[in-house]
Amino acid sequence: MTETTFAELGLGPDILKALDDAGYKTPTPIQAEAIPHVLAGRDLTGIAQTGTGKTAAFVLPMIHRLAKGRARARMPRCLILCPTRELAAQVAENFEKYGKYLKLTMALLIGGVSFKDQEQLLQRGVDVLIATPGRLLDQFERGKLLLMGVEYFIIDEADRMLDMGFIPDIEKICTKLPAKRQTLLFSATFPTDIQRLAKTFQRDPVKIEVARPTDAATTITQHVVHIPTNDAKAKRTALRRVIESCDVKNGIVFCNRKVEVDIVAASLSKHGHDAAPIHGDLPQSVRTETLQKFRDGDLKLLVASDVAARGLDIPDVGHVFNYAPPPKDEDYIHRIGRTGRAGRTGESYTIVSPIDEKSWGFVLKMIRKDVEDFMPEGLLEELADLPPDEPSSRGRGRRGERDKGRGRGDRSSSRTRGRRDRSEDAPKAEDAPKSEEIAELKEAVREERADKPKRERAERSDKPRRDRGERGDRGDRKRKDDDLILEPAPEKVKGFGSDVPAFLKR
Ligand code: AMP
Repeated sequence: MTETTFAELGLGPDILKALDDAGYKTPTPIQAEAIPHVLAGRDLTGIAQTGTGKTAAFVLPMIHRLAKGRARARMPRCLILCPTRELAAQVAENFEKYGKYLKLTMALLIGGVSFKDQEQLLQRGVDVLIATPGRLLDQFERGKLLLMGVEYFIIDEADRMLDMGFIPDIEKICTKLPAKRQTLLFSATFPTDIQRLAKTFQRDPVKIEVARPTDAATTITQHVVHIPTNDAKAKRTALRRVIESCDVKNGIVFCNRKVEVDIVAASLSKHGHDAAPIHGDLPQSVRTETLQKFRDGDLKLLVASDVAARGLDIPDVGHVFNYAPPPKDEDYIHRIGRTGRAGRTGESYTIVSPIDEKSWGFVLKMIRKDVEDFMPEGLLEELADLPPDEPSSRGRGRRGERDKGRGRGDRSSSRTRGRRDRSEDAPKAEDAPKSEEIAELKEAVREERADKPKRERAERSDKPRRDRGERGDRGDRKRKDDDLILEPAPEKVKGFGSDVPAFLKR
């Protein structure tokens, strides 16, 4: 069977040339399915995760259609809503990549870009406007923007928007758009609220689902490492041993809390690993720099809070390590989805303490498949030699007896085990590191930062912006995850100067 080509999908020669430059030979399944419908003018609901090529699935046909026609002042022809700055910037990068031979203009309405710059661009007229919902409404309410010229409306990562409390904003925006338009909605999952949104604002949409929402890419080999203790030090030791027993080119370590991100990153660095943290409490410039280093291959391990699980397009991540299963089971799919992208192979390792068994059980129930057990050689003995556990974790170590003797290569299924453990009482205590350990590691973090005066300067200059949050002056709006304030590499995206605007510095 011959594979479909981009040319067969009906895309124009300028776009085909850009695709060729990007090295993309064949469309991914979502692209092959969606592009003909979008070119035919149909509304479309795409159930697809990041990593499936879904951005190009809407960007390619959109720019093909936009190539005919011209932008008018303050009236964008295509509006794309994204939940975060980072995602908006990624979509913008896609536009630039695929539209480089077309004369299309684009603006970004996202936090961190000065109003003045945005206003000038809009005033001149843009074909494509990529925005986060809050910032878009700000500009609309200031009368800087008219939405009645929107011919194409795209909602990206709709379920993330739902999580972040953006749905009322989107509904409001939809009412400002002309009735005659093409609406595309993309979401990794399709909960009732999103179904309602699709039903209200789309007309007879084609529904395309490239993978079940709970399907992890088949190219990912998943592992679970059950450790018999909740002790934080033991857990960090386990993480190191797991990392050391893998051939890691690059990987992301996911933690459930920001404080854990800092501690785990500092601990890994202290033990000679090339690791750096990324989460919402770090200055924007540090996050951008860290992310860029990771993308460029100059950083091996990115220690991240859950925010990075969604949206960050980092191609070719070989390993994902979960310091613990995520509290929201569907985030597991998003986390491990950072590896095994676009058909590449990847491995994931999830460390499960007794206190995590319940959430691990939920993950197993959701993914509906077995996960291989893995135990680095000698780890159980090493953990047994560590000082006693925190009081909160005492009495929870019985699993250890059961697990003793399971060495490397013991890869029995953990599915049934997860189920059984779920029926046990959920531990109430937090898996808190010992206070002296926190102090020690925080000191390590401080020392590292002290070594980098540049970072300190950046921290000072970023603070006001960070305090304001992505949605800036719309302080009345609910913001569920301030982690999600991530800016792209400044030079890549229009509207992102490397200078922080003066009013933000104040
Ligand atoms: P997305 O799901 O849009 O985040 O895309 C995931 C990654 O796949 C991005 O790095 C894209 O540049 C890449 N990609 C998109 N389309 C293709 C394709 N047809 N062939 C290979 N890689 C692609």
